[in-house]
Amino acid sequence: MGKTWFEVAQERIQVAGEKLGTSPEIIEILKHPLRSLQVSIPVKMDNGKTKIFTGFRVQHNDACGPTKGGLRFHPSETFDDVKALATLMTLKCAVVGIPYGGSKGGIICNPKEMSQGEIERMSRGYIDAIAYFIGPDKDIPAPDVYTNPQIMAWMVDEYEKIVGHKAPGVITGKPLIVGGAKGRGNATAMGGLYTTREAAKVIGLDMKSATAAIQGYGNAGSFAAKLLYKDGVKIVAATDSKGGVYNPEGIDPFALYDYKTEHRTVQGFPGAQDISNEALLELDVDILVPAALQAQITGENASRIKAKIITELANGPVTPEADPILTQNKVLVIPDILANAGGVTVSYFEWVQNIYGYYWTEEETYEKLERIMKDAFHRTHEMFKKNEGGITMRMATDMVAVERVAEAIKVKGWV
Ligand code: GLU
Repeated sequence: MGKTWFEVAQERIQVAGEKLGTSPEIIEILKHPLRSLQVSIPVKMDNGKTKIFTGFRVQHNDACGPTKGGLRFHPSETFDDVKALATLMTLKCAVVGIPYGGSKGGIICNPKEMSQGEIERMSRGYIDAIAYFIGPDKDIPAPDVYTNPQIMAWMVDEYEKIVGHKAPGVITGKPLIVGGAKGRGNATAMGGLYTTREAAKVIGLDMKSATAAIQGYGNAGSFAAKLLYKDGVKIVAATDSKGGVYNPEGIDPFALYDYKTEHRTVQGFPGAQDISNEALLELDVDILVPAALQAQITGENASRIKAKIITELANGPVTPEADPILTQNKVLVIPDILANAGGVTVSYFEWVQNIYGYYWTEEETYEKLERIMKDAFHRTHEMFKKNEGGITMRMATDMVAVERVAEAIKVKGWV
């Protein structure tokens, strides 16, 4: 059997720690979540029967601040995946230098087969089960796979009823009317754009004459396409789970978005030819944006990738086997924990605004986000350059993160 996702995450910490000369005790601390909770949630279903759902919440490390991380609703959710993702959240928050540790939660369920009422009762039941485990100064959930602002609103409401006072900062990614932040919805794509612009600068690529292909035309992917287009980049291809479209002359991503909204797929967009998800990855473009699934660029196809920059908006689209091949071929990978960190960064802004009770404009949000993403990119790229030949961009990102968390652990006197 291959390694589990959590084992891969542990190995990444080991490698980054050893390269940095981090003490073995600190590496050991970082290889294990501090706290893990498994809960059973009884939910009255619409048919009158009660069904028991299993949920998890894992707090990986809190040396830098309260733990932070999303909540996934998925039929194949596992405790191992939640531990892995909690570990990666510690690294993600540390890469961008926001004052949080990492956590993640999940419920094994299939929300596509549940009514809104059932989802609401399950979400409230989950909060009933974990209320004293979370808090604005302890652990702060947010949306992730198959969860959304509405679910966050139910959860905040339930939490506030239990603790007996308002506490909007306990959960981020809320609807605007109950303390959400302007710009949170598109923050992941925005953060991806800021890092891509910096990557283009370091390799001497002019965005105005660049081409891009986007895998996944959902929220993050479609918005990223529109942002790149506004920068002058020619979008030549885009795919979704049903298939894709290609036009070497360029595709208008706004028109494509409208088409997708109407037809529920990008397939058949006028003036473009069909392309598969696999073929899109191997197109001769400058910028490749995987914004859909994990494990898309593997040991098998990595050597055929022609892009100069890969911006990982999805979590884990490039496998550990593919990384060294891409590095060898001079493809600049912006790893997920850096490229998609705009989401959690604007979650941080939301939490700050909740504490202040004072709300920013979208312009203020993006101005602050841009600064953070640029800094994080350059810090990572400098680490990569300093160790040129010996490491991948992913290792550089992990090293920047582990270095920060290790310092916090040290000054707090845990070892
Ligand atoms: N779920 C997102 C992530 O994995 C956002 C987490 C957050 O906002 O706390 O980065």
